[in-house]
Amino acid sequence: MNQKIYVNGKIVPRQEALVDIEDRGFQFADGVYEVIAVYQGKPFKLREHLERLVFSAAELEISCPGIAELQEEVEGYLTSIGLGAEDASIYIQLTRGVCPRTHAYPDGLDSILIMKAGSLKSRPEEYYQSGVKIITRPDERWSRCYIKSIALLPNVMAKKAAERARAYEAVMHRDGFVTEGSSSNLFLVEEGSLITPPATNYILNGITRQTVIQDIAPELGLEIREQSISLDRLFRAEEVFLTGTTTEIMPVVRIDENEVGRGLVGEITGRISETYRGLTRA
Ligand code: PMP
Repeated sequence: MNQKIYVNGKIVPRQEALVDIEDRGFQFADGVYEVIAVYQGKPFKLREHLERLVFSAAELEISCPGIAELQEEVEGYLTSIGLGAEDASIYIQLTRGVCPRTHAYPDGLDSILIMKAGSLKSRPEEYYQSGVKIITRPDERWSRCYIKSIALLPNVMAKKAAERARAYEAVMHRDGFVTEGSSSNLFLVEEGSLITPPATNYILNGITRQTVIQDIAPELGLEIREQSISLDRLFRAEEVFLTGTTTEIMPVVRIDENEVGRGLVGEITGRISETYRGLTRA
């Protein structure tokens, strides 16, 4: 993959894309980000991702270009690295800027926008065909999880715990209720309906989650309810799946030491996954 990086409007070789040690992203994780999947050269749900970036930045008072400008920069970057009709991913990060280290940020800092294209790390096909295991973990994050902040240590620790347990993902819970995965949202199937936790401040309202709710469920005639999910309810689910930009629609067949349903990929999950593939590989 092309190692050209976008840094504040310039395209530079990877080695020249350097961070100032007083970048607040480096010192305080003071920044926001997006990961966008590119299918056959076209960024999927680009507008939705950029809207969320602008929203996250506004919540933290980080200065951010507008949607139209961001869109132009993304498209210009993809052209300049010579991306054709290939699959790829784009990492976009906006940090507050550079200043001598102090907690309370000075007003009016110039934020730093970077973009890096990479391969779209598709999960092994086997995961989608046979389903994956997940583990459950207490949610140790702050109460503004709707912001896509680069401060991800609790997510990092949760994902590492999943890896150690040979699981695909760690799904977190707060006060006995499921929030989301360390980098994904969760759905379950109950009597033919889809249930997913509501988009409160305790979860990131995933673009893939919204695609399932707004595009896929209506197309398949599935009822969808945004409801709190207790751990008990999760363990009783007929089907469970995760959603995310790089996760796509991932069937879950095992939670901790328990099988979901009969331990096979659910029928409704399969249909949602197929429909999602249709949307992204249109
Ligand atoms: N929740 C968290 C905590 C995430 O990091 C992600 C992935 N960015 C998601 C949910 C899924 O969001 P999306 O569908 O927009 O990729």
